[in-house]
Amino acid sequence: MELRQGFDLKKYIRTIHDHPKPGIMFRDITTLIADPLALRASIDELVWPFLREKIDYVVGIEARGFILGGAIAHTLGRGFIPIRKKGKLPGETIERSYQLEYGEDAVEIHKDALSHGEKVLLVDDLIATGGTAQAALALLEDTGADVVAACFIVDLPDLGGRDKLVQQGVKVHTLVEFEGE
Ligand code: AMP
Repeated sequence: MELRQGFDLKKYIRTIHDHPKPGIMFRDITTLIADPLALRASIDELVWPFLREKIDYVVGIEARGFILGGAIAHTLGRGFIPIRKKGKLPGETIERSYQLEYGEDAVEIHKDALSHGEKVLLVDDLIATGGTAQAALALLEDTGADVVAACFIVDLPDLGGRDKLVQQGVKVHTLVEFEGE
């Protein structure tokens, strides 16, 4: 039987080569969240540094950030707020666009979701270049909320996203790293 101590989360993450395009190694967490021990261990490790922090809301980025963010919010006994791709949220929204390798994308949050000074924990499954997280942080800044930290299961350090966030003064908590893209 596998014991919680020394539990190897990394082996539950499946790598799919050349998805969504040639050269990309897609780090697929669906295999991790399908496993009851790996899911529980991930959520425990993600919330661990924040159990004594004052956090008002957990904010998750569409779509895998919803799965993890919902479980983290439940564990912390806090509410969950979604950041979605443009055009999906039904109420009045604010928006931030960001650069993709080819073209542009935009994320939105409900305008009335957060108030000035509310403390939030930002969640997504993976940080690569950091573009998505930076757009989410800019959106949160627009709401006046105060970001306590950003957390991710996977960091791809060679793509530099984590360093960008840290340079912006954001605390970053990640669980496993993979080399390369
Ligand atoms: P980035 O904006 O470059 O930091 O990319 C982060 C977002 O894209 C996250 O929402 C990830 O789910 C997704 N993503 C980027 N690269 C990968 C990858 N190699 N494997 C899995 N997901 C990725």
